[in-house]
Amino acid sequence: MSTTYIAMIVAILAGIGLLVGIGALSLLSGALNFLFVKPKIEILKSTNSDAGFAFTFKWDQDAEPVKFDKIRLHLFNPFGSPTEVDITREFEGSDTDFARDIDLGDQFKKILSASPLDKATVEIEVTASREGVTHKSSMKGSTFVDKRMNATQTVEDVAAKFVTTKSKPLFEIPERSFISPPLPKTAKQLKMATNPMFAGEFAGAAGGGAAAAGPAVENFTVAKVWIEPGCIVCDACEAIFPEVFEVTDSTCIIRPGAPLNDGLKMQEAAEACPVEVIKFTKAS
Ligand code: SF4
Repeated sequence: MSTTYIAMIVAILAGIGLLVGIGALSLLSGALNFLFVKPKIEILKSTNSDAGFAFTFKWDQDAEPVKFDKIRLHLFNPFGSPTEVDITREFEGSDTDFARDIDLGDQFKKILSASPLDKATVEIEVTASREGVTHKSSMKGSTFVDKRMNATQTVEDVAAKFVTTKSKPLFEIPERSFISPPLPKTAKQLKMATNPMFAGEFAGAAGGGAAAAGPAVENFTVAKVWIEPGCIVCDACEAIFPEVFEVTDSTCIIRPGAPLNDGLKMQEAAEACPVEVIKFTKAS
């Protein structure tokens, strides 16, 4: 057998070995992905109401770039009562790990009081409606009720732990300002309602001349500020008051040690929130 012939056989065998190696590695990575990056529905403590259901959902967003926006709870209780309960609710969609606390109403109370629970099954489905992706978790009815009762973490606790490594935008959001730049200097007095020199001339217009300016609004201190579930990560609050609000990939959080002495600015941020989830109380 010539040397060339032997070299060809060795090269072919090496190529086959390489292909088998790549295949085995890809299978291994798929298996690891399946085992350790499985989508996970976790039951949390609800602070919503006695019909509240709180949960968090985590999945591999790179492998499955979808937006989950629907939850379904299904009780199957063939040996007891009620035999079946089916609840579906939509919520503000999220394309990153999220947590929600939803009031499921009287139907949910039927699930919680079903009997016998240890022979019943509860299925929880989280769905991305647009993409048609659903992940399901199923457990005994008694396990479901126990998990809900014994949960200690709330949506707020979990949301605070979500990764906050959101890459900052490459552009700066300009600060909002409603104050025009100063007018050029001139010897002429401006004839406007708030100029005392012309007080009275505007009576009847814009609520009565100089008085229309109204009293200065007093600032106040905030006792507590928090974010309720439902943030749509629009960044408005952080643009207005970055010392207090930090918008992450999935929600908005209050920065530790945030200054609470500028109530007017806090109010401005709360009013700018399109879904009104910024809440605060004034210090007495
Ligand atoms: S303004 Fe409201 S919705 Fe927008 S990021 Fe802040 S809390 Fe979330």
